[in-house]
Amino acid sequence: MNTRETSAETDTVICSAKGCRAPAVWVLAWNNPKIHTPERRKTWLACEEHREYLSEFLGMRGFLKDVVTLAEWSATDH
Ligand SMILES: [Zn+2]
Repeated sequence: MNTRETSAETDTVICSAKGCRAPAVWVLAWNNPKIHTPERRKTWLACEEHREYLSEFLGMRGFLKDVVTLAEWSATDH
């Protein structure tokens, strides 16, 4: 049993936007009906700056299902 592991929940996650190294604060949950089953959720991570850009990208294609904060996403069971 490794006691150090239990406190390692706060890994820094990085924005999914190309070339961006900012820490992510948002989770964009999406689904492509052509390749995914309806209940399947793919996720992109976004920093404050790229949330709009990435959600627009997914929204235009009709893929976007949900935009939640990373804290909120982590708190729910997936
Ligand atoms: Zn970013």
